[in-house]
Amino acid sequence: MRRDYDANVIGSGHNGLTCACYLAKAGLKVLVLEKYHSIGGMTNTEEVTLPGYQSDTHAICIQFANFSPTPDELQLDRYGYELLHPEPCWSHAFPDGRAITVHRDLDRTCQSIARHSQKDAETWRRLYQSFLDQKDAICAAFNNPPPSFAEQGARLSSPIGLDQYRFEMQNLRSWCNETFEAEETKCLAAAWGVHVGVSPDDAGGGSAAWLFSMVIQHFGNNVVKGGMRQLPLALARFLESHGGTIRVNAQVKRILVNNGVAVGVELTDGEQIDCDGPIVSSAHPRHLALDLLGENQVGPDIARKMRRYELGESVMVVYLALDQPARCKAGRDVEQSVYVHPSPPSLDYYSQIFSEARGGLLSAEPFALICNDAAADSSRAPHGKGLMKLVVQPVPFDIKGDAGGQIRSTSWNEVKEPFADRVIEQLTEQYLPDLRDKIVSRVVHSPLDIQQMLPSALAGTNSHGAFLPYQVGPMRPIPEMGDYRSPIANVYLCGSGSHPGPGVTMAPGRNAAQAIYRDLGLNFAETIGKANTP
Ligand SMILES: Cc1cc2nc3c(=O)[nH]c(=O)nc-3n(C[C@H](O)[C@H](O)[C@H](O)COP(=O)(O)OP(=O)(O)OC[C@H]3O[C@@H](n4cnc5c(N)ncnc54)[C@H](O)[C@@H]3O)c2cc1C
Repeated sequence: MRRDYDANVIGSGHNGLTCACYLAKAGLKVLVLEKYHSIGGMTNTEEVTLPGYQSDTHAICIQFANFSPTPDELQLDRYGYELLHPEPCWSHAFPDGRAITVHRDLDRTCQSIARHSQKDAETWRRLYQSFLDQKDAICAAFNNPPPSFAEQGARLSSPIGLDQYRFEMQNLRSWCNETFEAEETKCLAAAWGVHVGVSPDDAGGGSAAWLFSMVIQHFGNNVVKGGMRQLPLALARFLESHGGTIRVNAQVKRILVNNGVAVGVELTDGEQIDCDGPIVSSAHPRHLALDLLGENQVGPDIARKMRRYELGESVMVVYLALDQPARCKAGRDVEQSVYVHPSPPSLDYYSQIFSEARGGLLSAEPFALICNDAAADSSRAPHGKGLMKLVVQPVPFDIKGDAGGQIRSTSWNEVKEPFADRVIEQLTEQYLPDLRDKIVSRVVHSPLDIQQMLPSALAGTNSHGAFLPYQVGPMRPIPEMGDYRSPIANVYLCGSGSHPGPGVTMAPGRNAAQAIYRDLGLNFAETIGKANTP
């Protein structure tokens, strides 16, 4: 049998590519296999609406990747990766025309918050200081394998550790009520729960909202020059310059296992590719365990746990090419923000949209994150034109009905256009008065479309598994696979279904590489040229 590769990586999302790059840097001959027709997974940029309009199809903003040592370690700037720093970072717009805007400058953010509450502005400053005090520890937590259960338990022996544990468990509603006095400031933070699929009443939302808010206050809400796709392209250039190969339109059907050791993969067209070393998957962990390996290989206990692994919330995405940038009722700062969270100033609104979606209902008043691609990077659209993306979430994957009482069908293929109409009508009436009239092209991707495009977006979700306290750290995806290792000795996980979870972070890919290096007897710190890296 011919052995062409030392390592196979399944999936060319940014985590799969990151892991592949570190393996190639150690001298392994790496093959990356991708189901889609281009690389990038949820970090891609395509002309979805019209020629010349470059939409970031999924992720647009670099938030937690600002913690990542990968761009420096792999010198990604030499391969075309460059960040832009949009100002303002994000705004929260309210239907009555008021808003809060978070600027790169802390004083300006506090001035904006102070229009709603002076006390909350002072609190924001204090929260930011506490972030600075913890920044290095947070960075280390992201960019290393998760602590063991014993290490996690040890910190509970101190009052500070216990307080931190309480904060990590606290729900958004509790933390917002404890922290802020104005409902507007509470919603400024609470909207971040939507990004990670956490309602105000789910455990664990408070710390996620704090972290998102403070990371952006500190680093900015950055975008990649030329589109998010430049990140996987830079990783791909690094990989290819280190002898690696990437194949697109190559869907892995199963991992071939012989006597408990993976020996290659079989593609959906029947082709078999042999591999002499690690097979690393950035696919959804449920897809890895149940389809690519199968219950025969992982055993009934792991199969049961992966079946109950919670998927999280589904999303629908609306791409809009605009004749001109849309005007915003709340003013120029909001128009220029790369992200706008539009909602009434009410935590109950957020509880409502989650309970509707989880009950199978299309929301009567859906939440749509507004991503302003063209404001963040004018090269994304022809001169003078506008380009926006609306990420509508949470939405049900299996529709049972319509809380708005208008849409009769329960099939996403029939529902997506009328539901997108509702979103656009609502935004036009309450926030962006000329949005409807400026649209020259609109494309809607339902959760079903997204799943068909990327198998990692199981049920149209964006997180490779819900981000809840019982599915994080060494419990992600399940304790038996929480250290990037699977029950098959040379099969690893390296995607967002592993610590530290979803988002553009490069961290699961790099952390998995650290685990693989250890198992292969390679020295990670020496290979990347940093003797002091753990
Ligand atoms: C609409 C949307 C907006 C988002 N916005 C942001 C944002 O602004 N900022 C942010 O930080 N995060 C954002 N995210 C989340 C972020 O994009 C993802 O968490 C992250 O990019 C996932 O990266 P990954 O490499 O782990 O997995 P993925 O990008 O999902 O890559 C996995 C790859 O594996 C491939 N694959 C799966 N199974 C197989 C198989 N059997 N054979 C071959 N290939 C396979 C898939 O096709 C895919 O390309 C967003 C996500 C979505 C959907």
